[in-house]
Amino acid sequence: MPQMRAIQVSEFGNPDVLEHVEVERPSPSEGEVLIKVKVAGVNYADTMRRRNQYLEETPLPFVPGSEVSGVVAEVGAGVEDVKERDRVVTLLRTGGYAQYAVAPGRNLISIPNGMDFEEAAAIPLQGLTAYHVLKSSGMLRQGEGVLVHAAAGGVGTLAVQMAKLMGASPIIATASTQEKLNLAKELGADVLINYTEEDWPEKVREATSGEGVDLILEMVGGDFVQKNLECLAAFGRIVVYGSASGERGSLIPANLMLKNQVVAGFYLPQLMGGRPELVEPSLEEILGWLASGELSLTIDARYPLEKAQEAHDALEGRQTTGKVVLNL
Ligand code: NDP
Repeated sequence: MPQMRAIQVSEFGNPDVLEHVEVERPSPSEGEVLIKVKVAGVNYADTMRRRNQYLEETPLPFVPGSEVSGVVAEVGAGVEDVKERDRVVTLLRTGGYAQYAVAPGRNLISIPNGMDFEEAAAIPLQGLTAYHVLKSSGMLRQGEGVLVHAAAGGVGTLAVQMAKLMGASPIIATASTQEKLNLAKELGADVLINYTEEDWPEKVREATSGEGVDLILEMVGGDFVQKNLECLAAFGRIVVYGSASGERGSLIPANLMLKNQVVAGFYLPQLMGGRPELVEPSLEEILGWLASGELSLTIDARYPLEKAQEAHDALEGRQTTGKVVLNL
């Protein structure tokens, strides 16, 4: 059987469990395609799977990687409207950190002319998440204030810009360094808060005339879950879509009654599988913003496949801004 280079996880743990190995090249089953991977997106989800802290457990051994762009190398039975050499980007559960990956034929996104493989790999996972936490789960309305945590991150850089495009005001950004806050400002944030140094709920209240903010994008976890409530407006919404601190946090639902508040959850794989009709229009809108230059991608860190450990170290160590990719 043909072999390929890949990154494999054989035991859960720190980034050093990411091994650069030779494994058997997969072949597409019915309804699948084989993609020759050019760029693999590195996402927080991959680090959480590696630690076995993801929402669903991943059987060992596995090749991590939930987002690839590349060229269709083989088309499985029953896949229509796709041919070899098509340039595509797609989401996977695992398998992306490899020279070849199999993917369902139905979720492929054609890469528009003029867009390179790196740019394409920076769009679906973080782009669709940023869009839907704001619009579908967050139900953002024109003129409402939004608090974006980790605003210089992969999802954060896109959420700040999309919030602006959706008419949010003010856009309040938190991050751990001044450099990251400067980036958030360049992307359109109105209020900047270093949440590792300042009393951030107090700063959010100050920025909203004491009322609190209408929508909070929550992905830190731990005591942030509760603290968000200290600066959420009446009828405000919190969308929980991650727990980068590794602590899930907790809150008492009955406390939400006091100010008619809502806490929602968001999980992209559920949206892709359960509400596919929401995906295409949002993707079109995102691609339209990119084509018009209203939305920009921040691709900050590039590593060769064999340096996946360094990529995970940097992402978990809060060293990166925007998108992190592996080049093959
Ligand atoms: P990021 O590029 O945003 O990197 C994570 C950032 O989290 C860090 O840069 C850091 O920013 C911030 N952070 C805050 N607290 C901590 C902490 N204790 N340890 C480490 N980092 C911390 O990653 P992604 O854009 O890939 O993902 C952002 C979040 O969105 C993650 O929680 C991820 O799991 C989630 N996500 C969820 C999806 C879903 O379907 N629900 C889909 C995609 C992403 P700073 O230094 O500024 O604090």
